[in-house]
Amino acid sequence: MNKKYVIAFDQGTTSTRTIIFDMQGVIQGISQKELTQYYPESGWVEHDPNQIYLDQKETFKKVLNETGIHPKDIAAIGITNQRETTVVWDKDTGEPVYNAIVWLDNRTKDICKTLKNDGLGTYVREHTGLVIDAYFSGTKLKWILDHVKDARDKADAGKLLFGTIDSWLIYKFTNGKNHYTDHTNASRTMLYNIKDLKWDDTLLTALDIPKSMLPEVKTSSSDFGYVAYQDTNIPICGVSGDQQAALFGQGGSIEGIAKNTYGTGCFLLLNNGKDYVSSKNGLITTLACSLPDQTKNYALEGSIFIGGASIQWLRDKMLLIEEAKDTEYICNSIPPLKDLYVVPAFSGLGAPYWDANAKGAIYGITLDIGKNEIIKATLESLAYQTKDVIKAMEEDSGKPLNALKVDGGASANNYLMQFQSDLLNVPVDRPKMIEITALGAAMLAGLKAGVWTKQDIASIREVDQIFTPKMDVKTRTEKYTGWLDAIKRTKTINET
Ligand code: ADP
Repeated sequence: MNKKYVIAFDQGTTSTRTIIFDMQGVIQGISQKELTQYYPESGWVEHDPNQIYLDQKETFKKVLNETGIHPKDIAAIGITNQRETTVVWDKDTGEPVYNAIVWLDNRTKDICKTLKNDGLGTYVREHTGLVIDAYFSGTKLKWILDHVKDARDKADAGKLLFGTIDSWLIYKFTNGKNHYTDHTNASRTMLYNIKDLKWDDTLLTALDIPKSMLPEVKTSSSDFGYVAYQDTNIPICGVSGDQQAALFGQGGSIEGIAKNTYGTGCFLLLNNGKDYVSSKNGLITTLACSLPDQTKNYALEGSIFIGGASIQWLRDKMLLIEEAKDTEYICNSIPPLKDLYVVPAFSGLGAPYWDANAKGAIYGITLDIGKNEIIKATLESLAYQTKDVIKAMEEDSGKPLNALKVDGGASANNYLMQFQSDLLNVPVDRPKMIEITALGAAMLAGLKAGVWTKQDIASIREVDQIFTPKMDVKTRTEKYTGWLDAIKRTKTINET
């Protein structure tokens, strides 16, 4: 094999990027475009699918031009994408019938309520691993069919197609030839049976969605078609939703590995092996990246809504810091906190509490508390929330966590990483490569294209720093007990 590079298309919520990796997994070029956000009504969020495709194409061409890398030297392309975001397009023209409805959009809350009232909650959990929520694609797809003129009739006549962003890009880049998705993306639709690995007829009927609209579901590391560029056909050989791609990039194809991405929100995933486990502790079960020899691979997932967003709040609303990274030296400059907690329930509480009505709160303010203490307590809230989710994962999986792999913007913060390790009492392992999501997609593609073996990809991930626990048991216990008390006082639903 004389090809020298693998490309990742990284299509995120706020930007679209193309990244080129060499055979050592080192980045050789990045091109990025910001993605326009549309908010037509309160709670609605949309993207223009054509902009997504054109931006992806433009960044792809640009990165090749800028690096001078010849398309013939590209072994494969991997796609990783914002999950759940829903596109419906015309099979003949390839034109979207409506904007993409973004994962954050909650216009389908009422459809979800009806499904719950119809008693489908347990069915959804047992077959899709999810909870009924507007976050997932199924009700967004139903909304488009119900509200766009002629959409229902066209769909019934087999003239419309549905896809998450991966499917949309594959369709456009293969000139309408291939209508595919992968296991990770399918598992976020609330229409896919993750036990039998097939579209779920009961849910399709409940949501009135014709099966002919749905993409064929493939292994994450497999053949998805070709991107024709100049005189070269480059194969798309890897596809994964962003959080599962990050887990894969972190070495998480192995059971027991957990990663936390500290971005705007925090996303924790634990590879829980080939046996389906349904969460009893407020987590969801989802499919991790599938490989030809490892088709069924489950992950437990917990989403924390407000992670780095609370640091933005300190900067933009409270005006307490100039830059996010200032929090590190501020935290190091003052003594450990005593009984001060910021609970950033700014848009309710996510996993494992799921309390949509909770509001943010600060507990334990005394006369000696100043702005630095509030900053420290806010940063520490990322670690406490992570501990809550890890605790739920340990209870669900029945196994203790032995290390946490980290990535995302706020994982650059050494104080936070040390505090996280102290609180969890496990090592926290931060890789050198910060673009771990894109790397995960590239790895899936490179594996299939035959440029990397499983051993190769295991050695690509290099450790930047491992933080080891230094806090004594008593302090750890006291601190976490205080946090749980703060959570209890914040919740509006007090079942305990
Ligand atoms: P996303 O992919 O969700 O946009 P990123 O992974 O780029 O997020 O991370 C950005 C988030 O991380 C922001 O919310 C920012 O406030 C936070 N952040 C970035 N650097 C630091 C830092 N050194 N310390 C604490 N928080 C940080």
